[in-house]
Amino acid sequence: KDEIEKHQINELLHKLPRLDKIFEVHRKIGEGTFSSVYLGSLRQHASLSNDEKRWFAIKHLVPTAHPARIEHELRCLQDIGGKEHVIGVELCLRNLDTIVFIMPYIPHRKFSEYVGEMDATELRQYMRALMVALRHVHSFGVIHRDVKPSNFLYDRDNKRYLLVDFGLAQRLCPAPEGTPMIGPPPAHSNGVRKRTRDEEDGPAAKRVALDLSMGSPAATGTATIAAAGPEVAAAEPRPGAAGSRPGATGSRPGMSGPRPGTVGSKPGAVGPRPGRCPCAGVAGVCDMCSGRAAPRAPRAGTQGFRPPEVLLKYPHQTTAVDVWAAGVVLASALTARYPFFRASDDVAALAELADLVGTEPLQRAAASLGRRVVSSSARRGVCLRALAARLRGEPLRRAPCVCRREFCLCPDRIKKAEEWDPRRSVAGFPDSAFSLAARLLDPDPRTRISAHDALAHPFLAAAD
Ligand code: ADP
Ligand code: MG
Repeated sequence: KDEIEKHQINELLHKLPRLDKIFEVHRKIGEGTFSSVYLGSLRQHASLSNDEKRWFAIKHLVPTAHPARIEHELRCLQDIGGKEHVIGVELCLRNLDTIVFIMPYIPHRKFSEYVGEMDATELRQYMRALMVALRHVHSFGVIHRDVKPSNFLYDRDNKRYLLVDFGLAQRLCPAPEGTPMIGPPPAHSNGVRKRTRDEEDGPAAKRVALDLSMGSPAATGTATIAAAGPEVAAAEPRPGAAGSRPGATGSRPGMSGPRPGTVGSKPGAVGPRPGRCPCAGVAGVCDMCSGRAAPRAPRAGTQGFRPPEVLLKYPHQTTAVDVWAAGVVLASALTARYPFFRASDDVAALAELADLVGTEPLQRAAASLGRRVVSSSARRGVCLRALAARLRGEPLRRAPCVCRREFCLCPDRIKKAEEWDPRRSVAGFPDSAFSLAARLLDPDPRTRISAHDALAHPFLAAAD
């Protein structure tokens, strides 16, 4: 492995002699689907001790990445980065198809190594920094689209945080008239361009129903779920495709193709929708439906962090996409489980969401997006407090409920802050932490809290 790494470094330095002139490249520190990242220091600092050196992360983009994508990532780093816990760029070098971004380096460990170690204060600081970074990015009318722990680097010793990787970032599209906007308006004309169309779904099956066995922490059993709608569509699983590994980086522009074929259609799984089309209520797809164009919507992101609106192919996605992903991170930390969601495809992911938030809230959210989710069994939603207690092996003290059934993720049942019991906690996490999780994991992007408002939420606004 060392030999391969050395070879890769030598090859990079050979292709980019200017990099070799300015920097010593020490070792590989990260690898994603679209880049390799190396640790570097200035040649002019060669005689200094390690403590005195300035360290850099040198991100080498794969030569097959689309130039527009690279340009957009660089613009995001230049225009947005360098403050508010968002990575900036010091230098960009290019020779032919070899391109590197040189960025400040931040030491960090894997999230899985400390996810169970964070106490309430540390988690508050961590989530606050993430929300500050998102508020900043969103104020530029940009959706990051790949918020997850491996893109939010945390230097635990020095309490430093950096949101990295704008490889999937997308300019917020103006919503159609009459559509309420979530998050800050996309008003800034700061030169951040709309991405060239990133991954969009090819002609997917019109309707999919699957039997699913869930393996995520939130899983409570097996459900049959189908997503449909006036513009009927449900994502299709891609067994073995990139992103089928839990927590693995998912779709990137250019990585998808048409995914023909229907998987596991189950008679009776899709409920009737009177007055729609002849096939409503029965398995299979009628001529009318199969003649319709499949909806196209961005789905770039990572499996396990995609919100309902992405899974349901809602085309007018907003910065709320990132807020949901932050909610998944918070749920991970509260339950000490990473990855939190494990589904390997979009339909299974929807079933996991239904398990967590409850079928009804998910169906309501889907309906507000013009989509329909049909499930063979109704889920009440998970009490995140109880789940956290169980997964942490802590007996759940049956204190008076916050909601009618302990604490659930259904926003309807979240009581006001005055009703929280300040003495109660799970592993030291107060009710407010679970309440924030429920607000971030609101299945409806239109009512989901914004990063800006999350910072005023009692959990994050509290003194450390
Ligand atoms: P990709 O687009 O390939 O996911 P990222 O920008 O996310 O690339 O970088 C991949 C990994 O490299 C990160 O998860 C992280 O471990 C490491 N890395 C990236 N930027 C930095 C940085 N500034 N400091 C330290 N490590 C970094
Ligand atoms: Mg990344």
